[in-house]
Amino acid sequence: MNVNQSAPPLPPFGQSQPVYPGYHPSSYGGQPGSTAPPTPYGAYNGPVPGCQQTPPPGVSRAPPSSEAPPASTAQAPSGQAAYGQFGQGDVQNGPSSTVQMQRFPGSQPFGSVPLAPVVSQPTVLQPYGPPPTSAQVTAQLAGMQISGAVAPALPPVGLGYGPPTSLASASGSFPNSGLYGSYPQGQAPPLSQAQGHLGAQPPQRSAPPQASSFTSSASGGPRMPSMTGPLLSGQGFGGPSLSQPNHVSSPPPQALLPGTQMTGPPGPPPPMHSSQQPGYQLQQNGSFGPARGPQPNYGSSYPGAPTFGSQPGPPQPLPPKRLDPDAIPSPIQVIEDDRNNRGSEPFVTGVRGQVPPLVTTNFLVKDQGNASPRYIRCTSYNIPCTSDMAKQAQVPLAAVIKPLARLPPEEASPYVVDHGESGPLRCNRCKAYMCPFMQFVEGGRRFQCCFCSCINDVPPQYFQHLDHTGKRVDAYDRPELSLGSYEFLATVDYCKNNKFPSPPAFIFMIDVSYNAIRSGLVRLLCEELKSLLDFLPREGGAEESAIRVGFVTYNKVLHFYNVKSSLAQPQMMVVSDVADMFVPLLDGFLVNVSESRAVITSLLDQIPEMFADTRETETVFAPVIQAGMEALKAAECAGKLFLFHTSLPIAEAPGKLKNRDDRKLINTDKEKTLFQPQTGAYQTLAKECVAQGCCVDLFLFPNQYVDVATLSVVPQLTGGSVYKYACFQVENDQERFLSDLRRDVQKVVGFDAVMRVRTSTGIRAVDFFGAFYMSNTTDVELAGLDGDKTVTVEFKHDDRLNEESGALLQCALLYTSCAGQRRLRIHNLALNCCTQLADLYRNCETDTLINYMAKFAYRGVLNSPVKTVRDTLITQCAQILACYRKNCASPSSAGQLILPECMKLLPVYLNCVLKSDVLQPGAEVTTDDRAYVRQLVTSMDVAETNVFFYPRLLPLTKSPIESATKPPAVRASEERLSNGDIYLLENGLNLFLWVGASVQQGVVQSLFSVSSFSQITSGLSVLPVLDNPLSKKVRGLIDSLRAQRSRYMKLIVVKQEDKLEMLFKHFLVEDKSLSGGASYVDFLCHMHKEIRQLLS
Ligand SMILES: [Zn+2]
Repeated sequence: MNVNQSAPPLPPFGQSQPVYPGYHPSSYGGQPGSTAPPTPYGAYNGPVPGCQQTPPPGVSRAPPSSEAPPASTAQAPSGQAAYGQFGQGDVQNGPSSTVQMQRFPGSQPFGSVPLAPVVSQPTVLQPYGPPPTSAQVTAQLAGMQISGAVAPALPPVGLGYGPPTSLASASGSFPNSGLYGSYPQGQAPPLSQAQGHLGAQPPQRSAPPQASSFTSSASGGPRMPSMTGPLLSGQGFGGPSLSQPNHVSSPPPQALLPGTQMTGPPGPPPPMHSSQQPGYQLQQNGSFGPARGPQPNYGSSYPGAPTFGSQPGPPQPLPPKRLDPDAIPSPIQVIEDDRNNRGSEPFVTGVRGQVPPLVTTNFLVKDQGNASPRYIRCTSYNIPCTSDMAKQAQVPLAAVIKPLARLPPEEASPYVVDHGESGPLRCNRCKAYMCPFMQFVEGGRRFQCCFCSCINDVPPQYFQHLDHTGKRVDAYDRPELSLGSYEFLATVDYCKNNKFPSPPAFIFMIDVSYNAIRSGLVRLLCEELKSLLDFLPREGGAEESAIRVGFVTYNKVLHFYNVKSSLAQPQMMVVSDVADMFVPLLDGFLVNVSESRAVITSLLDQIPEMFADTRETETVFAPVIQAGMEALKAAECAGKLFLFHTSLPIAEAPGKLKNRDDRKLINTDKEKTLFQPQTGAYQTLAKECVAQGCCVDLFLFPNQYVDVATLSVVPQLTGGSVYKYACFQVENDQERFLSDLRRDVQKVVGFDAVMRVRTSTGIRAVDFFGAFYMSNTTDVELAGLDGDKTVTVEFKHDDRLNEESGALLQCALLYTSCAGQRRLRIHNLALNCCTQLADLYRNCETDTLINYMAKFAYRGVLNSPVKTVRDTLITQCAQILACYRKNCASPSSAGQLILPECMKLLPVYLNCVLKSDVLQPGAEVTTDDRAYVRQLVTSMDVAETNVFFYPRLLPLTKSPIESATKPPAVRASEERLSNGDIYLLENGLNLFLWVGASVQQGVVQSLFSVSSFSQITSGLSVLPVLDNPLSKKVRGLIDSLRAQRSRYMKLIVVKQEDKLEMLFKHFLVEDKSLSGGASYVDFLCHMHKEIRQLLS
């Protein structure tokens, strides 16, 4: 969660529009003269009667009125429709397509690989770019060649810790490469046939607007990556690959030349540029970044050995080299460049199809008609017009939607629009909500739906004149006519049983079996709850939360507590018939915290004492959820269960589980069963919970296998969260648990929610990923939805799209607020459509693509062997890149790997997904860990998956202590570590402090208060609080990293060459992993081979 702090607050709606006094729709009426405090949103607080009921949102908003609008007469849905808004003949979204795990044939095993140069192409920011000049080049690397020699056995990972900038050290320690040849100078590339495909277009449409600059390694010298050997045995990608013969199977690449011409028909090879090495631009982190300007033909020769080709350069008897890691696309560089280029200006959403800055860039958003990227991010902002094009490109079309995303303080929450008893205005046919893209016609008396083209009458009370451009003159006074995101107050038609909801309730359900008591968990939790209950979520300026609370403890039986305010002491009621769960009391179970405070405090004091001597080790689980759900049902409200649970529920009861963990299943066809629930009972239970609006958050404290795959079913399907604290001990884990608990209890939640994504004609939502339940093919049902969770939606064509009209998405979320108010939150997004593949590839968002692909893969493991899932990902990625190469890239040698500029990190990030614990577990990863991560990723946002799959590695002692800025990250590879430094590594869940063995004694003293490296306690989780600049800086940095993430990251101090270091190295994702995951370099080689096979 990157919160922007830098830019000044901007009134999001600050175009102080004139107020039109003529506009008096009396039915909105009432309450003239706003009492709301002044806000930048002046136009809404002014005397426009139609808008003034809407208090400005945010902290200053007045408490929402509880007065219920009168029941609607005109458009009441039929009685059986629980959710009015979706009841009527909706034709927009058709049936979902089937799950498509088997879309692609298996890919090649990861065997020997001819690698070749990496080239990235056009930049993202110029949709059509300048006409290409003849000097345009594909930035590139000379081709990698495979000589056929078998690589000598090299030592495994890591020969040492070279300083990151030291080439000698870097290359010396790189483990996974074979022999390397070098290259002839400036050979002309064969002109590619690729242009032919785009032959009908003007050349500039297919040509990249700008060549991306590719820089060589820091030496600027002649070392050019050329891999001559096959991969070493043991670095295979996936199981079977290990048995691949070590030989080179592909033909040698053709002659290679950087610098290719983009325009004009195929002709003679471009001139050689044999003396242009100096043109390589040195960049700080190596690799190539986006072009910084026209850089004609710098990319030419690699003075190297004349391995093949017709034009041997001068003899360069250089020793064999390996692929230079600095010469392949660097995530760090891309992130830094985007920060520098796009971090200073606000992202204004008024223009259709703009690709937002990366999630790693801090930027401010100004809503001018499209939803902020904090709410919706797309894999591409330019969609192919036809399904044929989309199939050819294989780029998934998906949106990662976070409907209740929390915003930085500088950005205003969505305005709440109250249309009174008539409710929000919608299209009669497709039920889309009024939005800025609706077209008013006939002088404003009718409007044409932008989603289905239906012409609708404008109700008299909503009528307004149009200006000379056809725009309503009140457009800027109405959020729903000018903003991408806003809310409507829902009428009673949108409520269950046509009744306005009661405020939600929280029920705390505490395992009091032996393990929970012995670990100190119960005492810690009860103590914490006493104060935490004062911080239940509340709305606007409400004095206290409307949420009621209840308490249950359990082991093999359940204990309910009466905490009615009139009681002197809480009363316990035991239910031992867990097979037929009922709630033994209604009155006094759910109470207001401030009214019942004394009784609640007394209860929380007594619980740890009551069970202090328990010998009960067995627990039930499903009956606990059932009880909570029944209690909410009896109270006729939605709500959330907080379950604190320690063990596999083996006691005789519904949902009883057995230990079925079996690591022998890994890498077999039955591996998928480890991710599947062992009984269908929990799905059934979850369905009942969703119907009741009962969201379940699960805190697990296991000492051994608890079957997370099964226990997480209900949280997953109800929009809840799962937290896991293995081998919980109060002294080690209390900070992490309490931080998570506080955040979880306090966070704003939308209850009993239904989300629908509507699309304009031509595309439709076909597949959904996330923590929710679906009982039909279009409605995403969420018992609860918080500001951290995303729903990912995939789109498919069902017709041709139109370049002019583009494509529209509208996400509507109906939910009950924490105060019990029923609301609709609407997010709109307009995308471009293209008839040229190059436009698609220029407007993709790789971080979002990876988010989607990870979710796709993580769902796939439920049904397919893990290897099949990995192969599917690799094949898809290869197809995406091969299509680009074939249709969009400049002609160049087959020996080059050419990546689209905005996808140049696709291989490195995809490799991280492939190596992740779910898809390729190491020996230390438990079945529960995998199931846990699998469900976590399912609802992660793009920023979270980005850092989760590619962790941030921050050097702490490189920059001056006084420097206030965060140190620039380095690439996640062992060779970037210097043994004289200290590094922080974080991925959103884990946080390591790695200490090099040669760190200065003074640094050790300043941070750890011990005199030498050897005295540092390995595994330390808290740094001593010391009064010196370095200590303050490091602790401050840790605090700020934790504040950015949705879960508390426990610190682990790792010393170089200590045994804990293996754990740390698991996160150095550019390196080969112990579980067989490929290094970045090797994966890139493999990817290139796959692409070449597709192209040949
Ligand atoms: Zn419509």
